Amino acid sequence: MRIPFDNSYATLPDGFFTRLDPTPVKEPKLLAWNDDLAASLGIEGGDAKTRAQVFGGNAVPAGAAPLAQLYAGHQFGNFNPQLGDGRAILLGEVVDSVGKRRDIQLKGSGPTPYSRMGDGRAWVGPVLREYLISEAMHALGVPTTRALAVVATGEPILRESGPLPGAIVTRVAASHLRVGTFQVFAHRGETEALKTLTDYAIARHYPDAEGPLDLLRAVCAAQAELVAQWMSFGFIHGVMNTDNCSISGETIDYGPCAFMDAFHQGRVFSSIDRQGRYAYGNQPQIVVWNMAQLATSLLQQMDDKETAVEDATEIVHDMPELVEAAWLRRFAAKLGISNPRPEDVDLINELLSLMQTDGSDFTNTFRALGTDQARDHFTNRDAFDAWAENWRSRIKDEPDPQAVMQAANPAVIPRNHRIEQMIEAAVAGDMAPFERLMTALATPFEETDPELQRPPTEDEIVPATFCG
Ligand code: AMP
Ligand code: MG
Ligand code: MG
Repeated sequence: MRIPFDNSYATLPDGFFTRLDPTPVKEPKLLAWNDDLAASLGIEGGDAKTRAQVFGGNAVPAGAAPLAQLYAGHQFGNFNPQLGDGRAILLGEVVDSVGKRRDIQLKGSGPTPYSRMGDGRAWVGPVLREYLISEAMHALGVPTTRALAVVATGEPILRESGPLPGAIVTRVAASHLRVGTFQVFAHRGETEALKTLTDYAIARHYPDAEGPLDLLRAVCAAQAELVAQWMSFGFIHGVMNTDNCSISGETIDYGPCAFMDAFHQGRVFSSIDRQGRYAYGNQPQIVVWNMAQLATSLLQQMDDKETAVEDATEIVHDMPELVEAAWLRRFAAKLGISNPRPEDVDLINELLSLMQTDGSDFTNTFRALGTDQARDHFTNRDAFDAWAENWRSRIKDEPDPQAVMQAANPAVIPRNHRIEQMIEAAVAGDMAPFERLMTALATPFEETDPELQRPPTEDEIVPATFCG
């Protein structure tokens, strides 16, 4: 197998990372492989056995420069001065078929100097979950890390519930630079490192940016778009810690994330998010909070502090408006509106409020708008009918509301109960449910597998998700 590595992070100063190889595993077995992604990365040759060896961490491919990255982060609002890749190894980077630089990273590949109390491993459940959801997000058009491979390790790992089968996911990202990468150097007062990192981030992601404030502006814009897209698909990230907030604007770190079935602004899935800090409806505020942390870190390198603080403050203060504008654009499209007006905010919120009262299925209700079935998603049908009358008069003059809605309202999303069923089957050696979900989720705006569109029955509801 040939991987055309072209590594840049490994050329940064020593303090940015620790070089180390993945820890070999007992019996690597390839469970999933993303052919299209591999081709776009220029990966050639190699059979299933070779792929299992390489992406299970047993064979370091030629040209790789394996390392674990250092970073810090606010976890649920509390600053942790040192995190870092505790169970991930960056193999290296490639420049893909469209000229984009991409990280190739193993996750679950053994302990590193940043593992703290962890074992450096992951179990097959969250690994398949990340593979499936990240690829589904990509198909929905949401910026995201992608998944190249899943390798079962043949080794059990211990979790609270007992021993579970280990696995490694290979993640492909525009980069793994996070808000927390800036925080670690800012916190330590390592100004030179901070400047080096800033230059590196600009060159890699925002080559037009001139200096730290421009970088901040660009990341704010990217994150505003991202969170608006999450909201528009009913996606709840679940762990929006600053170490899980990417500088590139991609969704990163699929832990206890989930797509909502019944709509509620306060919806939380993550078992560790006890205060609901990262609830669905809080995401637009949290992303701004994260950008404020990025601003604080970037400022550490500025000479003219007073002016810089003023400018950075303004950028962060302007961000809620960016998020609201992106949110309005995304939700207006869900109603068939291509040129939103300020008053459309009320129209959207009125519908969401009816949906919340009635516990309407988020995905299916939007998908049904404009059909006779829409009102079936509500218990208070008179209220919905009244809303729909307003809505119809609003979209009267829209050029092609049906087409706009079709492109904004997916038919199928990775529902929690399907994911859990898929994991259960995979653990028992049956990958068919995984393949079936992957096939349907590759074209989420088409109705190819109606059974996967069905919300969970009472018995199927998965109330909480775990980190793994
Ligand atoms: P997360 O909440 O998944 O973003 O993880 C936060 C930090 O914990 C990161 O530094 C991870 O690398 C680390 N971590 C999570 N799980 C493990 C594990 N099983 N072993 C070692 N480190 C871990
Ligand atoms: Mg993380
Ligand atoms: Mg994680």
